[in-house]
Amino acid sequence: SENLLDVKNLKTSFFTHVGEVKAIRGVDFHLKKGEAIGIVGESGSGKSVTSLSVMKLLLNPGKIIDGQILFNGEDLATKTDKEMQSIRGNEISMIFQDPMTSLNPVYTIGDQIMEAIIKHQKVSKEEARKKAVEMLRLVGIPSPEKRIKQYPHEFSGGMRQRAMIAMALSCEPQLLIADEPTTALDVTIQAQILELMKDLKDRLNTSIILITHDLGVVVDVCSRIIVMYGGLIMEEGSSEEIFYNPKHPYTLGLLKSIPKITEKSDKQRLIPIDGTPPDLLKPPKGCPFAPRCDFAMRICMEQSPEYTQMSPTHRSMCHLLHPDAPSVPEINGNMN
Ligand code: SF4
Ligand code: MG
Repeated sequence: SENLLDVKNLKTSFFTHVGEVKAIRGVDFHLKKGEAIGIVGESGSGKSVTSLSVMKLLLNPGKIIDGQILFNGEDLATKTDKEMQSIRGNEISMIFQDPMTSLNPVYTIGDQIMEAIIKHQKVSKEEARKKAVEMLRLVGIPSPEKRIKQYPHEFSGGMRQRAMIAMALSCEPQLLIADEPTTALDVTIQAQILELMKDLKDRLNTSIILITHDLGVVVDVCSRIIVMYGGLIMEEGSSEEIFYNPKHPYTLGLLKSIPKITEKSDKQRLIPIDGTPPDLLKPPKGCPFAPRCDFAMRICMEQSPEYTQMSPTHRSMCHLLHPDAPSVPEINGNMN
């Protein structure tokens, strides 16, 4: 198949002293070569646990309990730690919100990128240095020959994030997973980093999974969007379908909470969704969003909704999409 990644019925739990927290409760998605998808949801939705499961970077007491993670047709779920080590930072790279947690403060930026290059490619130190300079230039760091000798603390937040991306890309991964890569950055730098990721995807044909709580972040970079809540995919669609024709009340809520930059100031205005995510120690029997949903019906508390397929790329898990459900203009009316 042309799918780089095929995640099937993934279930991940944390076995805590108070019981099993069912963080991922049966998630299916795929990613084609050279494609960028966004996984969006609030904290606790399962979006980060999904990516950590794919990377097999779950910390104790986290465990994949079911499903397949097919990467180039091979199931990562069955790989040993040693096999995963060679896949990570080689075929799959990850970048996180705070580059300081991934950069070592006592080594220069150059040494760290060179180390990543030498670890994965048979090249001399001099070649690795040249390649590191090239990578820094690629991610838009000015005077890379000078910058390569500097330490992480000598870089601004935006430059550190660029250096992180350079490091993640230095092994030429097929898949880059970026978890809230721009959340700590100001709006202008954020836009630049996202533009950079889009550009790298087009130039290097890297597949990207962009994980964020902010739907506004994914629209320019990703062709498809997955909306997660309560350890499940609530809605999945092309960026256009999610933005112009959302079919899930949670997606509607996320769309309303996209930070808007007002003309006079760059203060962000957003309308948060009231309430908190469900306790996955005791997952709700019905729809996980029911306690916070403006449209909840009795059935929503009692029965988990099935997916309704609106188009080959668009599906949503909501009882309102059942033909016998009452019509709600926000959902059943076409917003186009
Ligand atoms: Fe709201 Fe019910 Fe749809 Fe869940 S299934 S999102 S509670 S309407
Ligand atoms: Mg997270």
